[in-house]
Amino acid sequence: MNESSTPNAPIIVPRSEHPISRSAISPNALRVLYRLKEAGYQAFIVGGAVRDLLLGVRPKDFDVATNALPEEVRRLFRNSRLIGRRFRLAHVHFGSEIIEVATFRAAAAPEREDTEDPDAEGPATGLDGPEDREIDPRGRILRDNVYGTIEEDVWRRDFTANALYYNIEDFSVWDFVGGVADVAARRLRLIGDPDERYREDPVRMLRAVRFAAKLDFTFDPATESPVTRLASLLDGVPPARLFDETLKLFLSGYGARSYALLRHYGLFEHLFPLAAAAFARPPYAYAEQMLDLGLRNTDERIGADKAVTPTFLFALLLWGAVLREMNERNAGPAPDVAQLLQACDVVLRAQQSRVAIPRRFSVPMRELLMLQPRFNRRSGAKSLGLLHHPRFRAAYDFLMLRVQAGVADPEIATWWTEIQTLPQEERLQRVQARPGQAPAAEGGAPSSSRRRRRRRGPRTGPPPAAP
Ligand code: ATP
Ligand code: MG
Repeated sequence: MNESSTPNAPIIVPRSEHPISRSAISPNALRVLYRLKEAGYQAFIVGGAVRDLLLGVRPKDFDVATNALPEEVRRLFRNSRLIGRRFRLAHVHFGSEIIEVATFRAAAAPEREDTEDPDAEGPATGLDGPEDREIDPRGRILRDNVYGTIEEDVWRRDFTANALYYNIEDFSVWDFVGGVADVAARRLRLIGDPDERYREDPVRMLRAVRFAAKLDFTFDPATESPVTRLASLLDGVPPARLFDETLKLFLSGYGARSYALLRHYGLFEHLFPLAAAAFARPPYAYAEQMLDLGLRNTDERIGADKAVTPTFLFALLLWGAVLREMNERNAGPAPDVAQLLQACDVVLRAQQSRVAIPRRFSVPMRELLMLQPRFNRRSGAKSLGLLHHPRFRAAYDFLMLRVQAGVADPEIATWWTEIQTLPQEERLQRVQARPGQAPAAEGGAPSSSRRRRRRRGPRTGPPPAAP
């Protein structure tokens, strides 16, 4: 470690030597900083916002660090409330913008975990002794509750680029760990001993990937080298926290790159083991191609400020696993919709122990997948009912990806694309013009059970269970 990483001696970069202008800072964050300062406290912007401002990127949000205790912050801001169970943080509300104000603290606890469930353990007690820290046998910090100084606060942060402090006192940037140089070099470097820091909180491996993908940073060698070896530590992280991280990885605009890095470092298989196993089996490998295409679309949508949904993401992530489960379980006649749903449930149940998917996403995901076989049916007025299904749009987008991956018939997709543009009268003409037509055979999903039973001949449903 070099001079600049000595905790007690920050490099102080004066305003004249860095590009951060107050006009790039949220006026609400400035309000919070000034009020703290006027009340006699230290107040800094910290974390990703300082990093982003140095990079000329607009920060997602502004976090404030201060030596005021949470209760003191609470008293200064009428529009604030305290959250967190192991660590109390103040959220200062300005309409839809929330400025998070954290008191300096003296440990390497995973910061966000304790904000999730404010009621679970009752309020934290404030200044506790070091015995208030609990570490599991693998070195993971389970509980931590010690406030501290800014010098100590630095050490609980993960990457040097995330440990910069913008001081409202004189608009300087305080850098205890060489973060300014690392940002300039676009380098991701863990503070302290990487092995130890990943063991304390294995989610840092996912954060590393996320920042590398988002900021186009490269890993410092010492930060990179333990990752693959320690990847299995993710198995011990609470599935609800991994759900949050998964959304950040895949729905922040850099999902395709994040996915490639997760694969590269052997992390993905610890989040979605059944998906990874299916992708490795030739008949289901196309599902990974769909995922990649889908993530690229998603990234573009986010870039264009369009809405994206976790439902679609999880459908993409789990489709290969669902098909494999369905095919390998049903060796007999061609699988039907009931079997597709059953396979979905088996996969979802197994998935809950890694990345827990809340029902509000898994239920619609199941519907989206269940609608796939219904696209095959294009005769009779009833087939048009699909257009009014609440999941039609997502299911249609999913169908398009299946076409792009070469497993669904493009003709079917074109038919559904066109039918949407037609008036009701012409829609009816189309479905009546196809009396009793058998569904086109296609890979990727079974057709409806009713039709299946009528059909004779070789199985033509999902990608062959054995090629
Ligand atoms: P983003 O741009 O995605 O918001 P961020 O760096 O602000 O990136 P957050 O998750 O918002 O990331 O966390 C804010 C700060 O808290 C980080 O910059 C880092 O200093 C610290 N932090 C968050 N999570 C951890 C962790 N697991 N371990 C150590 N420090 C963390
Ligand atoms: Mg942030």
